[in-house]
Amino acid sequence: MTNCLICNKEEKVEFLDNYKPQFKEDESYFKKAKLYRCDNCDFSFVNPMPSLETLDYFYKNIYSSKERPPYWATEDYEDQKVHYLEDKNLSYLLYLTTLIDFKKIKTIFDFGCSNGDLGYALKIKFSQLDLFCSESDLHCEKILKERGYKNFKNLNNINQKFDLIIVTHALEHITDVNYIFNKFNDLLNLNGYIFFEVPNCPKEYWNGRPYDGLHLLYYTKKSFEKLAEIHGLDFINFSFSAHSFENDRNYQIEDLKSVQNNFSFYKLKRLIKKLLPKKIVRDLKDFKKGKKTRDKAKLDWFANNTGDNCYIRGILKKSLDKI
Ligand SMILES: [Zn+2]
Repeated sequence: MTNCLICNKEEKVEFLDNYKPQFKEDESYFKKAKLYRCDNCDFSFVNPMPSLETLDYFYKNIYSSKERPPYWATEDYEDQKVHYLEDKNLSYLLYLTTLIDFKKIKTIFDFGCSNGDLGYALKIKFSQLDLFCSESDLHCEKILKERGYKNFKNLNNINQKFDLIIVTHALEHITDVNYIFNKFNDLLNLNGYIFFEVPNCPKEYWNGRPYDGLHLLYYTKKSFEKLAEIHGLDFINFSFSAHSFENDRNYQIEDLKSVQNNFSFYKLKRLIKKLLPKKIVRDLKDFKKGKKTRDKAKLDWFANNTGDNCYIRGILKKSLDKI
C-alpha cells in the first residue's frame, strides 16, 4: 500500500491510472510510474516517484530545452525579456496587488520562478522590493541575474526570511509537498504571505486528459485546505483561475500534435526566423500579439471563479493562533 503525501494516511488511497508521459523520450525518466488518489485530501500523486537525481538532471537540462513545448521560443532572448507583459503575468499582478499591500513588502522569494516574470513586474511598480529565488534551470540564469534576483540553488543555504513567497506552477513538479511547506513556514516572516497557483485536478480533470505533463502532484481546493490545516496557515483568498478544462485539454492536444506531426515544420519556422533580420521577426510577433487583443480567449486570464477553471490559486498567511 501507499500513503497519501499530504495526510500520510493509506486507507483512502486508491490506484487511479497509469502515468502518461508527454514525450516518448521522457519514459526513461518516469519509469513504471502510476497515479494514486487520496479521497481524504482529493489529492493525486505519482508512485513510485522518480529519484531526486533524475529530476535534478531533468529540470536543469531537459525541461525547457529547445524543441520542446511549452518553450518553443526559449532561444529568443529579446522575446523572453518582454514576456512579463503577457496576460497571465498581468492577471497575477492584478490579483496580488488587490489583496496585498505591497508598500509593506520588502523581500520576495520565488520558488521555481523560471525567468522571474512576476517578481520583475512587481519590482517595476514597487521599487523597494528585493528579489530572491530558487531556480535550478540553467536556461534561466542569465535573465534572473539581469533582473537582480539572488538565486539560492539550495534551500538549506538560505539564512533570511521573506515577506512574500511566490510559488506558481512549481508545486506540481516536486516530490514532497509537506517538506516544501515546512521550509516555507521557516522562511516566512510572521506577517508574510504565500501566493500559489497550480493546475486544478478534481475528477473532472482526469476525464480525458491527453498526458500528465511531467506533473508529480495533483491538487484540488480540498488538498490546499488540508495543507493549510497541517501547516498552520489561513487563507486570505482562494480562487479558481484560467481557462476551462475543455480548453486546457485542447491546448495540451495542440502541443502534442505539434511535437508528433510538425516537428520539422517548427524547425523550419525557427530557421527562417534566424535568417530574417531580428527587427522584422519582432515586428511580426508584435503584429500577431496585436491580433490577440481581439481574441476572446484573453478573457480567461481575467475572469476567476467561473466554475470551470483549470487552475487554482490562493494567498496564505500564518494562522494567528499558531504564531
Ligand atoms: Zn490524504
